[in-house]
Amino acid sequence: MSHLAIYPGSFDPPTNGHLDVVDRALNLFDGVIVAVASNEAKHPLFSTEERLGLLHTVLQGRPRIRITAFDGLLVDFARQQGASAVIRGLRAVSDFEFEFQMALMNRKLEPDIETIFLMPKEEYTYLSSRIIKEIARLGGAIGAFVPPCVADALRSKSSQPVTNA
Ligand code: ADP
Repeated sequence: MSHLAIYPGSFDPPTNGHLDVVDRALNLFDGVIVAVASNEAKHPLFSTEERLGLLHTVLQGRPRIRITAFDGLLVDFARQQGASAVIRGLRAVSDFEFEFQMALMNRKLEPDIETIFLMPKEEYTYLSSRIIKEIARLGGAIGAFVPPCVADALRSKSSQPVTNA
């Protein structure tokens, strides 16, 4: 029986921290499903299709990966996909409270799915999609924190005129 894990997130956009977590998960599981939460309520900078496209590019060449979008309840989606574990990255104490609450709630909803927390390389512990978008918007250098195609996508978003629509 193959053991599959699901790694859900906004990935708006994917960073080197996300990739580090994917690689750690691949070392533990037979397959990893990277699941992009549509999260329209969060007003993502990149559309679901753009985030899927970026993930396809940055994860190209890695074996045993499936990339997909989802909305609705994570545990329902995980069950449908045949995943036995949910992967979440834990960067700092600030992530802990929310993640702990989510993990226990998901366990109540679906006792057979275990949440597994993975810590990234130290240099990625301060990295978040939110902070990368902010640096990019202000014209800072982001090349050390995201793959080249993500840096290009951020640069082209930053150069688009801002509208109030
Ligand atoms: P979400 O909106 O679900 O928090 P994110 O894309 O921000 O979506 O994060 C998805 C998952 O990846 C979360 O578990 C988050 O903690 C983890 N993550 C994000 N950035 C990093 C990083 N730099 N190092 C380790 N884990 C990370």
